[in-house]
Amino acid sequence: MTDVAQGLRLRDDFPGVGDWHYLDSAATAQKPTAVIDAIARAYGPDYATVHRGVYERSANMTLAYEAARRKVAQFIGAASDSEVVYVRGATEGINLVAHSWAGTQLKAGDRILLSMLEHHSNIVPWQIVAERVGAAIDVVPLTQDGRIDLDAMAAMITPAHKMVALAHVSNVLGSVLDCRRAADIAHGVGAKILIDGCQAVPRIAVDVQALDCDFYVFSAHKLYGPTGIGALYGTAEALDRARPYQGGGEMIEIVSRDRVTYNTAPHKFEAGTPPILEAIGLGAALDWMTAFDHADVKAHEDALYARAYEGLRGVNGLTIHGETPHKGAVLAFSLEGAHPHDIAQILDRYGIAVRAGHHCAQPLMEHLGVSATARASFAVYNTLAEVDAFIEALAKAREMLV
Ligand code: PMP
Repeated sequence: MTDVAQGLRLRDDFPGVGDWHYLDSAATAQKPTAVIDAIARAYGPDYATVHRGVYERSANMTLAYEAARRKVAQFIGAASDSEVVYVRGATEGINLVAHSWAGTQLKAGDRILLSMLEHHSNIVPWQIVAERVGAAIDVVPLTQDGRIDLDAMAAMITPAHKMVALAHVSNVLGSVLDCRRAADIAHGVGAKILIDGCQAVPRIAVDVQALDCDFYVFSAHKLYGPTGIGALYGTAEALDRARPYQGGGEMIEIVSRDRVTYNTAPHKFEAGTPPILEAIGLGAALDWMTAFDHADVKAHEDALYARAYEGLRGVNGLTIHGETPHKGAVLAFSLEGAHPHDIAQILDRYGIAVRAGHHCAQPLMEHLGVSATARASFAVYNTLAEVDAFIEALAKAREMLV
């Protein structure tokens, strides 16, 4: 994968990329055939429920389902499979921690620390729990070049802060957090830290133990896996303290007419028939991903970003949001006199898919002084030729709009 041209060869693995230029992988990634085939097999000849059946096919499905959990644990460096909870996605993972950990551990007067660049899914669950328990939220500002300002965080954090929740990689600015330093600052006052790894896991090697975070969440669909599943990592201690999220089958030990005792983590958070196919698909995506070196993936995407950056940098009236070195492969931009939706619509006519909107980060938009931006994002299957097509089409859009 060190060769950028590799993207071209990889395209054959992705029926979804075809003959258009898909530059919206930060929203959701296309799926390799290996994932699609694994899901088709699991939904066809291998299909059965998990954990309950005594017949062989169910036992086999249970093995595959739990093997996928082990793959997640290995992929993010968790100490044990039981620290990995299957969730519907990052959004549900954060809601689970906000509800089940913060909702029971925080009290009136406690504080929660977020940053200015968070996705709504890492803001709203904290607003809901803060309102419920009477806690307050503080927001860490950004540096001039678009990183979470850890010096400011160190200066503003107090022992009243019990929870810190930050994005590993921004879905708008692409800036990468020094998670270990953030964790050290949080732990210095006894706070727990949750890292939103949605945009990080597809391109950065993650070791949750080295990062020393208490919780880490991501969604499979941005990692070349299926929708409807993601993972919540929590340390054994943190998960043990958290109350169940939902009640139902699987999450219990014993139920009587008036009492219940709970299963241990991770099952205590997984009520009901789980997302069996989705877990198998996630496992297949991780198998597919781990065939590549993270450093090569990052180098490939960095090369695509660098080409786009060079192509856009000199364009009159164009602002690139987030200019930190080593940023992730997202390029959000504004063009003076042109609405991002109009830009995206014209690019679509040239077969180029980019995102336009507030990217579920309205506080960040306000900070940037815009209501929306256009955003191109790159993944393993993209090529330099596609970046060139994007730059060319954008020049045409500019002629039409400005
Ligand atoms: N955090 C970040 C940084 C994201 O980019 C996203 C997806 N746009 C989310 C959280 C939410 O992920 P999901 O919608 O898959 O739960």
